Amino acid sequence: MTEKTSLNDMQKLVSLSKRRGFVFQSSEIYGGINACWDYGPLGVELKHNIKSAWWNAMTRRPDIDGIDAAILMHPQVWKSSGHVDGFTDPLVDCKKCKARFRTDNEIYSKEKKCPSCGSTDLSEPRNFNLMFKTFMGPLEDAASVVYLRPETAQGIYVNYQNVQVTARRKIPFGIAQIGKAFRNEITPGNFIFRTREFEQMEMQYFVKPGTDEKWMSDWKERRMQWYLDHGFKKQNLQYHQHGEGELAHYAKAAFDIQYKFPFGWQELEGIHNRTDFDLGRHQQASKKNLEYFEEATKEKFIPYIIETSAGCDRSLLACMCDAYAEEVTQDEETKKEEVRVIMRFHPKLAPVKVAFLPLSKKEELSKPTQKLQEEFVEDMVTQYDESSSIGKRYRRQDEIGTPLCVTMDFESLNDKKVTVRHRDSMKQDRVDMSQLKEYIQKKLKNFNSEAGV
Ligand code: ATP
Repeated sequence: MTEKTSLNDMQKLVSLSKRRGFVFQSSEIYGGINACWDYGPLGVELKHNIKSAWWNAMTRRPDIDGIDAAILMHPQVWKSSGHVDGFTDPLVDCKKCKARFRTDNEIYSKEKKCPSCGSTDLSEPRNFNLMFKTFMGPLEDAASVVYLRPETAQGIYVNYQNVQVTARRKIPFGIAQIGKAFRNEITPGNFIFRTREFEQMEMQYFVKPGTDEKWMSDWKERRMQWYLDHGFKKQNLQYHQHGEGELAHYAKAAFDIQYKFPFGWQELEGIHNRTDFDLGRHQQASKKNLEYFEEATKEKFIPYIIETSAGCDRSLLACMCDAYAEEVTQDEETKKEEVRVIMRFHPKLAPVKVAFLPLSKKEELSKPTQKLQEEFVEDMVTQYDESSSIGKRYRRQDEIGTPLCVTMDFESLNDKKVTVRHRDSMKQDRVDMSQLKEYIQKKLKNFNSEAGV
């Protein structure tokens, strides 16, 4: 081995995603619909693994509970939150080529011309609200307008007291939620980076005013560590602190965790000190007392909120970009030099954990290989593959990031041993079948991102 190249061209990932069944274009047989994507068999496993890793990191703490709020909420929620008036992007239309873009577009902001055709015949910027509207009930009138939530956070704020009382929580405590959000983005794109329907993983941590800065710095560190613990490369992650002009109206401080995508450093997750803005606004508009009473000090206050807000689809994209590698190497069978594409997923996130591959399709081998696989199916996602040469099958598993392959050959029938082949090192071990499960569980658990599997 080997010369390694990381991902430099998104198109490679888009085509791998389609070819192997990670992500498909939505409604593809009708020509697709702009910026909507469907997760295929491997994509949905990967996404599920990301969500459960996040969920476990949050709710297996003694101070955080989960909820699952409705997507449709009382329209007043979005007035109180500021979204009806303020969740807008300034939009410009080109009268010549009909392109539509945001005023923060690099070409427009510098040269005041259309980024697409160069025309200067442009509309004045106008504010475009990013919330999707629909109607509740049979009447399509103004009184029945409801919104598809543009963030999951509001479902947590309006339930803050329900959770605090029913789970008998004392401050500080947190509420976590994973769910769909919708934004009518003006310029979606970069594959699943910016879409109009996406999933968020949000946690809101309720603290006593005065302790907010300490908790902000705690969550900032913890969230970065979560990415590192799941195999993301350190050199591809950084913080970006929001400066004065960038800070949202509700925030006292804000940090983004950014990832170095092939198209540049971009936000993966936001960590915000939202102060008492959200609960204060909901208290004022709903006329419900949302204050917290602290038993020990007999003080009443509206809690401050530290928010961690991550995009699930965006984390998945970053995870795929980070895992992607091309290596010039020797085919394990033919010994010819070739390029292997490999997804170096952390085993916790890898959609398939082990592949079972009989050396030959003959029943003599296929039957016992399938029987061996059966011992694993309840514990982890596995695949069985008997088609084409063993070298090609290893390559296929490398491309979907399967950490380990188990190969049964004719010798296995005598010595009751199988070959375990490791994705990253391509090392092969001969393992006694009676110890295979223990061996595999240990390998998956002891993964270290430097050495790989
Ligand atoms: P941007 O400025 O890029 O539009 P934002 O700062 O408005 O994003 P937040 O409101 O902080 O984003 O959303 C939190 C997280 O939700 C983001 O870090 C991102 O991971 C995810 N997210 C937001 N909008 C989208 C989208 N259109 N498509 C996919 N993920 C998104």
